[in-house]
Amino acid sequence: MPIHAELLCVGNELLIGKTLNTNAQWLAKRLTTLGLEVKRITTIGDNIEEIAETLKEALQRKPKILITTGGLGPTFDDKTLEGIAKALNRSLEINQEAYKMVEEKYRTYVKEGKIEKFELTPHRVKMAKLPEDSKPLPNPIGTAPGVLLRHKDTLIIALPGVPSEMKAIFDESVAALVRKQAQNVTFFETSIYVDGIVESEIAPLIDEVMRDNPYVYIKSHPKGVKKKPHIEIHLSTTAKDSTTAKKRITKTLMQISDLIRVKGGKTRVPKRVKQEG
Ligand code: AMP
Ligand code: MG
Repeated sequence: MPIHAELLCVGNELLIGKTLNTNAQWLAKRLTTLGLEVKRITTIGDNIEEIAETLKEALQRKPKILITTGGLGPTFDDKTLEGIAKALNRSLEINQEAYKMVEEKYRTYVKEGKIEKFELTPHRVKMAKLPEDSKPLPNPIGTAPGVLLRHKDTLIIALPGVPSEMKAIFDESVAALVRKQAQNVTFFETSIYVDGIVESEIAPLIDEVMRDNPYVYIKSHPKGVKKKPHIEIHLSTTAKDSTTAKKRITKTLMQISDLIRVKGGKTRVPKRVKQEG
């Protein structure tokens, strides 16, 4: 049974097309590689009610991991933690551990000459106000800590919007938790590249091969132009160990390549899979 994860990306800038949601892609890839199944990615604006409602809806689907990004900073539009507190009926209070983290950051900024004097203004203290029973996650790059809390069987993890901070907190504090949930399940993927055959001719071959290999997901990605079709065929699987995963992929890859060649297509198979086959 794959472990189910969801992402909730918060930020008006994502909805107006100012910012590309690279956090979603990065997290989806990392979670998948760690063996989880990301079942849904939702993007919403900086609105407390909407954050609370969307989070409640997501919790009803009982994901094991629910990661939010964005809205942890000092400005008026950073409302993710208020939204989470509202959804879970918890108060938002100064978390002593988070307070120390934020305080430490501003002391360092003074030493480094980034700010003139040390002062914990209400906007700075805001970053230490977490929902009751939360654990702050150190931010090695920026100021706002990430936040970890549990609701029933779901781990909720709130990460900042700034991609470098989000990634640093994930790698330092979240990846190990996710790995534990996934219980060493592995994800394996590879691609073959096909020329000289159109996607509609490949479609029935994919149907056949997927029927024979039910644990492998096959997706074609057309990359060429109409007159000169060039198609990437991506194969992926999640299995309980890497040997099983690689075996499955290799077998499936050989089968689809053979069928494509019979139809007159040319395939380019990646070296490492060729060696294993
Ligand atoms: P925030 O933490 O929401 O104030 O966002 C801080 C910065 O991170 C802003 O410049 C956002 O545009 C950027 N950002 C927020 N969410 C994302 C995202 N999902 N992908 C990429 N960048 C983002
Ligand atoms: Mg924001």
